[in-house]
Amino acid sequence: MTAADNDDRKIQPTPPDIRAEIVDTVKRFVQREVVPAASELEHRDEYPHAMVATMKELGLFGATIPTHWGGLGLDTLTYAMIVEEICVGWMSLSGILNTHLLLAYIIRNFGTEEQKNRFLPEMAAGEYRGALCLSEAHAGSDVQRIRTVAVRDGDDYLVNGTKMWVTNGRNGNLFALVVKTDPQADPPHRGMSLFIAPPGNGVTISRDIGKLGYKGVDTCEIAFEDYRVPSANLLGGEEGRGMQQVLNGLEVGRINIASRAVGVARAAFEHAIRYAQERQTFGKPICEHQAIQLKLADMATKIEAARLLTHRAANKKDQGERCDLEAGMAKLFASETCAEVTLEAMRVHGGYGFSKEFPVERYYRDAPLMLIGEGTNEIQRTIIARQLVKKYPA
Ligand SMILES: Cc1cc2nc3c(=O)[nH]c(=O)nc-3n(C[C@H](O)[C@H](O)[C@H](O)COP(=O)(O)OP(=O)(O)OC[C@H]3O[C@@H](n4cnc5c(N)ncnc54)[C@H](O)[C@@H]3O)c2cc1C
Repeated sequence: MTAADNDDRKIQPTPPDIRAEIVDTVKRFVQREVVPAASELEHRDEYPHAMVATMKELGLFGATIPTHWGGLGLDTLTYAMIVEEICVGWMSLSGILNTHLLLAYIIRNFGTEEQKNRFLPEMAAGEYRGALCLSEAHAGSDVQRIRTVAVRDGDDYLVNGTKMWVTNGRNGNLFALVVKTDPQADPPHRGMSLFIAPPGNGVTISRDIGKLGYKGVDTCEIAFEDYRVPSANLLGGEEGRGMQQVLNGLEVGRINIASRAVGVARAAFEHAIRYAQERQTFGKPICEHQAIQLKLADMATKIEAARLLTHRAANKKDQGERCDLEAGMAKLFASETCAEVTLEAMRVHGGYGFSKEFPVERYYRDAPLMLIGEGTNEIQRTIIARQLVKKYPA
């Protein structure tokens, strides 16, 4: 079996008592450190250094990295539950983990033994912090159109091109850099490769991108000009595998996005149901008006359904199976639910929902990212439909 084929590995299930303990620890961290400070930092668009330091202490940068390399070795299901708890506090924190653990996942599944030993221990410790350099200004959904090129030069490759939307681009220090090593390849994905690339000479953050929500976490445009990366950093040591490697990692990314959406929706719902019991109109709490009851019932039901889909996708990933269909459905349903629930929570709050003094406006601004990130929901639907046609042949 080559390193590149080695992605079907089953993930060791996390024992339920350990899972419960870890999720509870994260929940306490969120309630203690994140909830009280998130809105203020978010409004200032400030990077949450102190929270990230605690996440590092808790070992969260190694959450899904096997214990062999110093990680916590948690299964995807436990990871999904952790992400939900974090996002009840602040969705941006989960963005700091997502591309990091996505990179760790693909190194673990596709890297050579030397690459695993070189990168995973420091990633588990949070010393190396991963970022994904895939999208470009003209190519997001249509990733085969990327133009960044890596040309072999002795023992190195020289990289030229510009990446867009790199989450953790400024605070990360290890890129999953997707390039063309053969721009003429047909189909184009056969000419795509992935490098594990630390920033160095020739790497410039050309700008920080201002955003509607998902603030605090850095999202950057990064230029690579004659950037030299050793051939030893070509993931799996083989050219032409980059697309397959990154798509496999994006399944975990989609489970992360689905879990984020469940967390943000839950936070919005919990605020709404409390507010609905406190706010009085026409002589009674608004939760006694049927129009509000219908909203609360629909919100809670959809959140439960989104969580079940997310956990189902995580379970499938833990079986070592591809889960395009399940991760796509979870990401699609959870993110649409989140967008709907955050708007409904704002309506339940009336005018106060529109105010910066209540956190629902933040949930509302964070929700749309989940419709777009890790493949837009339009693309998710095409992936789901393709899988369904395979599953139900004529
Ligand atoms: C805050 C933020 C953080 C991000 N972080 C990262 C990151 O860390 N690393 C990274 O590499 N990328 C990142 N991205 C990029 C993200 O993955 C892309 O924005 C996303 O894949 C969509 O690509 P696009 O923006 O180029 O839109 P386009 O691909 O141009 O799509 C535009 C519209 O057309 C639709 N569309 C496109 N093709 C089809 C089709 N075949 N069928 C139906 N509809 C279609 C899309 O759904 C969308 O509605 C981030 C984006 C954001 C907003």
